[in-house]
Amino acid sequence: MDDFKETFFTTVGCMDGRVQEVVGTFGREKLDALYPDTITDAGIVGKLPLKNEALFADLKFKLIDVSLEKHHSKGIIVHGHTECAGNPVDDETQKEDIRKSTAVIKKMVGSLPVIGVFVHRSANDPTLWVADQIVAAVTP
Ligand SMILES: [Zn+2]
Repeated sequence: MDDFKETFFTTVGCMDGRVQEVVGTFGREKLDALYPDTITDAGIVGKLPLKNEALFADLKFKLIDVSLEKHHSKGIIVHGHTECAGNPVDDETQKEDIRKSTAVIKKMVGSLPVIGVFVHRSANDPTLWVADQIVAAVTP
């Protein structure tokens, strides 16, 4: 892997297929890395603030042991989206869940940038999905 100078970042968000590409593109530009390690669960930003033990064990392995330690991830995008079947709440609650989850992830990863993103339909073309940064990366 190191021979090819491949760069990674990490996404933690919903499994919903409509959001993966737009989050990947956002992260590539924002974190200047090529490959998103994609950690998903249905409506995960609704679950992270509850600190479920099994979810955290799984997250520790994927995020810390693999993405950070093996892939040297350059940062994490925590994302949620409108019309989420796994976390069926209104957009304002969804954004609040993203903010809370971003703080939870930040505690796990120390000095790496963690960015909170809300994905929603484009106002101009509702068949398109767009990513809005709602929590800025806190850098040391
Ligand atoms: Zn969802």
